[in-house]
Amino acid sequence: MIGDDVRLADLPLREDLRGKNPYGAPQIDVSVRVNTNENPHPPSPALQADLARSVAAAAAELNRYPDRDAVVLRTELANYLQRSTGVPLDARNVWAANGSNEILLQILQAFGGPARRALGFEPSYSMHPIIASGTRTEWLACPRRGDFGVDVAGAVAAIDQQRPDVLFLTTPNNPTGGALTPDDLRALLSAAPGMVVVDEAYAEFSTVPSAVELLGEFGDRLIVSRTMSKAFAFAGGRLGYLAAAPAVVDALQLVRLPYHLSSLTQAAALAALRHADDTLATVRRLVAERERMAEALRAMGLSVVDSQANFLLVGGFADQGAAWQHFLDAGILVRDVGIAGHLRISIGLAPENDEVLRVAAELAGTPD
Ligand code: PMP
Repeated sequence: MIGDDVRLADLPLREDLRGKNPYGAPQIDVSVRVNTNENPHPPSPALQADLARSVAAAAAELNRYPDRDAVVLRTELANYLQRSTGVPLDARNVWAANGSNEILLQILQAFGGPARRALGFEPSYSMHPIIASGTRTEWLACPRRGDFGVDVAGAVAAIDQQRPDVLFLTTPNNPTGGALTPDDLRALLSAAPGMVVVDEAYAEFSTVPSAVELLGEFGDRLIVSRTMSKAFAFAGGRLGYLAAAPAVVDALQLVRLPYHLSSLTQAAALAALRHADDTLATVRRLVAERERMAEALRAMGLSVVDSQANFLLVGGFADQGAAWQHFLDAGILVRDVGIAGHLRISIGLAPENDEVLRVAAELAGTPD
């Protein structure tokens, strides 16, 4: 094949990217895929039909560039956030992009970059340091406690000492599932000298109040990042967004590519938002399944971190790599996030969860 003789090591790649690994959750076609925290419920037939009609209407105008500022979509996202948090927001408080990964990228393009530093509490979402690296933002990793919570007093001391330009707080945290309380957030926001990104990709699964409620108090530094990939069952649609002061949105306009959100994406996301109530009803079912799973796994003698998200971090596997393979051999794809003895398992449909429990029982050596 043309180009097969060209090796990555021979390309004039930036020195700081040499030897790095890309984000790489395996995409393997098995019957139970519980490795990327998607919503296992497909979009409702009504949403699928609405989306097809909306995309067809957008197709008639594909010769034109999309609304560069996605104003209608941002208005609807602001309405949704206002409905769910009670905080008054309008389109100027909201920015949208292709997945929250692109939101995070734009934030670091604007507020990070060469000679700037971002700090996060690990283990956390693996893309935070990867996006930092891509934007040449130095990444500072602070460890979480043994129980995977954030030691807030220690975190405040680390922030005071390191003075990061951007602070990442993930709540509920991926891959561990725990959430920061508003008081924790207040303490961390008060200590932060720079921008604070609260990554709330899993907010809808949590009973802990959203950081959106703190925007009135900390608007000069707080950015709340959200996604439609999880609760909204829209991972394939690629739509992430943020809530912040309008000036933050102005800052991101300096780095965003023009017309970054296609008219097809905007039309599809608007259709998904029109069916929000229906889709979000699946969240309650997933939370009930999460609690059922946690209890069953604990009864097997496995350890389960309390989760406010749509996944569980499960410990007690003698060798998590071998356990991952055992699940895969049974047709179940879970996630090895590199924490010794642990695997992360997304909550699936009830029959999928039953399968997970059956195989987990084999690994735990206890009858199901
Ligand atoms: N933040 C967190 C904490 C996540 O777990 C994920 C997805 N796994 C994302 C952001 C990015 O999701 P997306 O780009 O699909 O919005």
